[in-house]
Amino acid sequence: MTDPARTVLAGLGAIRSDVEDLYKDLHRHPELGQREHRTAKKAADALRDVGYDVTEGIGGTGVIGVLANGDGPVVMVRADMDALPVRERTGLPYASTATAIDEDGSEQPVMHACGHDVHVASLIGCARLMAARRDTWRGTFVALFQPSEENGDGAGAMIGDGLTAKSPRPDVVLAQHVLPCPAGFVGTRAGSFLAAADSLRITVHGRGAHGSMPQAAVDPVVMAAMIVVRLQTIASRELAATTPAVVTVGSIHAGTGPNVIPDRAVIELNVRSYDDATRAQIMDAIERIVRAECEASRAPRAPEIKRISSFPPTVNDEEPTRRVAEAFAEYFGDDARTAELQTASEDMSEIPQAFGVPFTYWAIGGIDPEHYAEAVGKGTVAQDIPVNHSPFFAPAMQPTLDTGVSALTVAALAWLGN
Ligand code: ZN
Ligand code: ZN
Repeated sequence: MTDPARTVLAGLGAIRSDVEDLYKDLHRHPELGQREHRTAKKAADALRDVGYDVTEGIGGTGVIGVLANGDGPVVMVRADMDALPVRERTGLPYASTATAIDEDGSEQPVMHACGHDVHVASLIGCARLMAARRDTWRGTFVALFQPSEENGDGAGAMIGDGLTAKSPRPDVVLAQHVLPCPAGFVGTRAGSFLAAADSLRITVHGRGAHGSMPQAAVDPVVMAAMIVVRLQTIASRELAATTPAVVTVGSIHAGTGPNVIPDRAVIELNVRSYDDATRAQIMDAIERIVRAECEASRAPRAPEIKRISSFPPTVNDEEPTRRVAEAFAEYFGDDARTAELQTASEDMSEIPQAFGVPFTYWAIGGIDPEHYAEAVGKGTVAQDIPVNHSPFFAPAMQPTLDTGVSALTVAALAWLGN
């Protein structure tokens, strides 16, 4: 056998039950962003056990393990570790009953509702297989476990804590996400894959007065209402019909009673876009509209526009995506497909950007294929297939984990196995 991926993955059967046990353990013990202490320790111990040079505590709970195996390319493979404040309702025997105290001091349920436990278990499985068959490849394999993806600040925290000095510089960065499509499926996509997401909090200022005396007031409720309507014209009137983008005002708060004109209104909105130019254009338009409406309303003070969270767009580089797609087609056959454009967001791309290197990020399916086919047949996919972040999100353990381990290994060996 000359194909290094098949040679390395011949060891999968021997570690399959370990990977499944680890997955169930992680699923039962989810941890919120920047509190992934137990998960990070599991990853660090597993890497150390098979000979990786491990650095812990990067940007909080981040971990890297480096396996240097002679001259050759450096490949970094990233998995995110954090869970979500969701109360699990899957009914699985290994369901989470965990809770955590959040920043406000209130108790929150915690669940791996986004499948980051699949990512961690898959990367540990892949890292073990790579260590076991060092004879089949050359170069350096870097396993990276990132905290706090859901908050959009984990990649940035690792970079801020010196990741680029603590890790060898990779030639490429690879990552994957489990999605609600049939398990066994792997989907690559060159170019735009995930949206950028920006959330803003806008405070507009008026002058409060009695509800019967509008002449004494500058009414921030009217100001906010005009802004909300005008923001709808960004996607519909300022962008081309072929440019996908979303501007959603998800929250608006002003006032305390029917006969009091308040002195301020607070609007919170979320923007999704797929490239930096569109993103900048939308941000400029929001600022222009908000300032102009405040001026048009005689606001006594300028508005405050604060970014409350921010995810970059995930735009896969062409060359590594082509290389991975070819390796997947060779290994997975018809199960290797082209993934659809997603409206979700990720902070993963900040890592390759910090090193100034290309990356590719792909999807793996997580839903039992028969169950999925049945829902397609009935036309009930949207109702019957729980998506990421749902309290019912429950990836089928197999073939999801085998696919997760295999995809990472096949992709890494597309560089290291030559
Ligand atoms: Zn998520
Ligand atoms: Zn996720």
